[in-house]
Amino acid sequence: MEQELREIVRKLLEEGAIEYFIGYAEGFEPLHTTPCFIERGEQVQALVWSPLCPYNLARYLHQMKNGAGKVGLVVKGCDARAIVELVKGNQIQRERVVVVGIPCQGQVDLAKLEDAFEGVEAVEGKGDTFLVTVGEKVHSVEKERLLREKCFSCRHPISFEYDFVLGEMSPLVYGSESEFAMVEELERLPVEERRAFWRAQFERCIRCYACRDICYACYCQECIFESKAPRWLEKTTTPLDNQTYHLIRAWHMVGRCIDCGECERVCPVGIPLRRLYKKVEKEVEQLFDYRAGMRVEDLPPLVTFAAEEPALSSRQDRSER
Ligand code: SF4
Ligand code: SF4
Ligand code: SF4
Repeated sequence: MEQELREIVRKLLEEGAIEYFIGYAEGFEPLHTTPCFIERGEQVQALVWSPLCPYNLARYLHQMKNGAGKVGLVVKGCDARAIVELVKGNQIQRERVVVVGIPCQGQVDLAKLEDAFEGVEAVEGKGDTFLVTVGEKVHSVEKERLLREKCFSCRHPISFEYDFVLGEMSPLVYGSESEFAMVEELERLPVEERRAFWRAQFERCIRCYACRDICYACYCQECIFESKAPRWLEKTTTPLDNQTYHLIRAWHMVGRCIDCGECERVCPVGIPLRRLYKKVEKEVEQLFDYRAGMRVEDLPPLVTFAAEEPALSSRQDRSER
């Protein structure tokens, strides 16, 4: 697959079809790949692909606004939904993006991998297993042991927004687990317990803003959290400011979160942010029958709304959510 990717990119660059290509390259050690920008045909050997390529590269498309030419990038199914949303939000023009889609077979959760093995040199996907190379030995491990949580309920492993596709289109491997199971688990708790759960999570937040900075959907020139007039938040991490940060950000994700899981992956204190944004996603799906990132023609619920909401029957219902 890597070789196929390199050949496509070489051709695109040599024919002048793109100015540069955004892909993955080897990182500072075997478990970490890094996003890379390829500008010339002779650089394509740097491109890699493996179950250790977590980043949503659509995050880098914001930079396109400053150029005039085309840009290529490689996407997994979940990342491809970001492209749809960026087009909808007038952040990019689809005709200026050359998308290479990968039929994704799941990504590895590094914490699980590091718990299970020491000295890993490579990981490769093969059917229902990951092949983990440690020294001379190759361990065949059931994917379920090492997959990232989001992959268990993946509904879109295959990019449906692409110009090229690598490898064979394969059937959906995952997707059996209810994607809202972790939200429903919390919903079953009494309101006070839910509130206590989130309060405890938000109190651990150090407001480094990594979750915002990694999110493809955060592209405002001036972020509300850094505005000085009016100043919505102080710099300190008081419980109230932290809660305000998370609730405002969750509100900003309404109809836009595509569940790439990047916010949760980069959080240095391990706050379960996917659970928060999945709740938002579930509400939007139930209230507006809308799922972000599916089709450019679908209008976001906060852009258009019916005069009569097909919504909750009473304030009581609303407070119980
Ligand atoms: S959520 Fe789906 S597309 Fe995204 S990394 Fe996991 S299996 Fe791949
Ligand atoms: S990445 Fe984690 S610690 Fe940093 S602001 Fe976001 S939730 Fe808080
Ligand atoms: S909020 Fe998190 S999961 Fe949703 S699009 Fe942004 S980074 Fe991805």
